[in-house]
Amino acid sequence: MSDTPKLDFIREIIAVDLASGKHATTITRFPPEPNGYLHIGHAKSICLNFGIAQENAASGARCHLRFDDTNPSKEETEYVESIKADVKWLGFDWGEHLFFASDYFEFYYECAVHLIKNGLAYVDHQTPEQIKESRGNLNVAGTPSPWRDRAAEESLDLFARMRAGEFKEGEAVLRAKIDMASPNIVMRDPVIYRIMHAHHHNTGDAWCIYPMYDFAHPLEDAKEHITHSLCTLEFEIHRPFYDWTIDNCPVPAKPRQIEFSRLNLNYTVMSKRKLLQLVKEGLVGGWDDPRMPSLSGIRRRGYPAAAVRNFCHRVGITKFDGITDVALLEFEVRDHLNTAAPRRMAVLDPVKLVIENWPAGTSEDIELDNHPKDPAMGTRHVAMTRELWIEADDFQEEPEKKFYRLGPGRHVRLRGAHIVKCTGFEKDAAGKVSEIRCEYLPGTMGADTPEGVQCKAAIHWVSAVHGVAAEVRLYDRLFTVEDPDAAEGGFVSVINPDSLKTITAWVEPSVAEVEPEWSCQFERLGYFVADRVQHLPGKPVFNRTVALRDSWK
Ligand code: ATP
Ligand code: MG
Repeated sequence: MSDTPKLDFIREIIAVDLASGKHATTITRFPPEPNGYLHIGHAKSICLNFGIAQENAASGARCHLRFDDTNPSKEETEYVESIKADVKWLGFDWGEHLFFASDYFEFYYECAVHLIKNGLAYVDHQTPEQIKESRGNLNVAGTPSPWRDRAAEESLDLFARMRAGEFKEGEAVLRAKIDMASPNIVMRDPVIYRIMHAHHHNTGDAWCIYPMYDFAHPLEDAKEHITHSLCTLEFEIHRPFYDWTIDNCPVPAKPRQIEFSRLNLNYTVMSKRKLLQLVKEGLVGGWDDPRMPSLSGIRRRGYPAAAVRNFCHRVGITKFDGITDVALLEFEVRDHLNTAAPRRMAVLDPVKLVIENWPAGTSEDIELDNHPKDPAMGTRHVAMTRELWIEADDFQEEPEKKFYRLGPGRHVRLRGAHIVKCTGFEKDAAGKVSEIRCEYLPGTMGADTPEGVQCKAAIHWVSAVHGVAAEVRLYDRLFTVEDPDAAEGGFVSVINPDSLKTITAWVEPSVAEVEPEWSCQFERLGYFVADRVQHLPGKPVFNRTVALRDSWK
């Protein structure tokens, strides 16, 4: 997909670096912390980083998948596996280049020792509160720690003892020695190591000191010879420290950090912490609930990976923070499925249609195109029988203006089959139409409407003899307001109570036999996917991916 003639500013920078010979190729990375499942925001970063590697493959470009697992308390292997599966599903491949930041613990340590020896780091014993307090604010310069000017030998010894486990958490930290009066508060002697007596999923109990993210990240990038380290805008003020670390540590390469704006979507919460809360409190069915903005959720919802990639491409890469309309994502999903998804018929709100002049016990085989514009998708067979299911709202007892479907005495075409004329109807005790009677017009199948007959609409149907009952889940947005994070009662208070409706529908027999994750358009209703987890051949379960048109407003 390269219909944009102009490169975004990051691709522009990379093109210049390659043309000037500054780099022979480009190496990017996608560095998730394995503390949750990936979401649609991550897709933007994945498409950018892996996309750049793909586009520059000729020069040997590549993108690393690096698990940023330096924080011992939060990571789980379940997340590592789900992240790998989601990146693959999106259509990207890290090849041999799978890394864990925790494999570099010894390297970060050596870099810290190097800084101490050069008078660029010191062990501090102030409490976290004191450190915070003494860093000052935008108007007030920070105050130096009483330990700031201690001898390097003393800090070296203390840092070794920190590693050896001689201190409790909070009794000592290692700080970079930069500038307590810097206008950028990040540069006021940031903490680079802290004590945490915690078990790590990879290194076990080998370490009780752990590097801070801001210190570890540039070192990870350098260790892997990353050329362009792409991150979101909130890291812009951290960039001077990123560069300071690279400039002052014994690193094998000099990566460059470039920031871009993160993806925000309306009607959505996107922080892993909040998504975890939805899962833990049972407010959704799990990380892969089709209402979740997680990649596993939208996959199960039936969003094609290609549509997600097209969406990220359309959103583009800029430095301007904004909120993207979730309708744009839904547009891309429809746009993709319109060409990619075969058509089938299903009836979601059934009422029986009896064709009185059709002999009981007989059926007629009808061949239907699978796609109106793509003959390569072939055809399928459905059976016409005396009794059919049609949608209840395709009949009106007293048709309103511009309603061209069934009503007493009216004609309508059964999709792909004959024209029928309504001859009567029954109501149940509650006054709801329970059965509609009609006669078919022989010779009208596959033929023009006969002279003198008014027939302006075609409706879908399923044979009441051959149709199969399917569980169908109709999804709507998970939140009722555009900005759930801003809701007075918190985002949980604005969960849409109608975001999931489960019904039993009638579907064509062929639909019952498909594999999980098979997508189609149920004509006139929307795009649906066979549920990845619960659909079984013969016992169909379908999720509505998206309605045909936006019905929200
Ligand atoms: P969250 O805030 O949702 O918890 P995170 O930034 O903490 O996300 P990480 O696992 O650290 O999650 O993110 C991995 C990469 O994905 C980072 O490079 C991060 O910048 C990027 N990323 C995360 N969220 C978005 C987003 N909404 N838009 C673009 N990139 C994102
Ligand atoms: Mg994070």
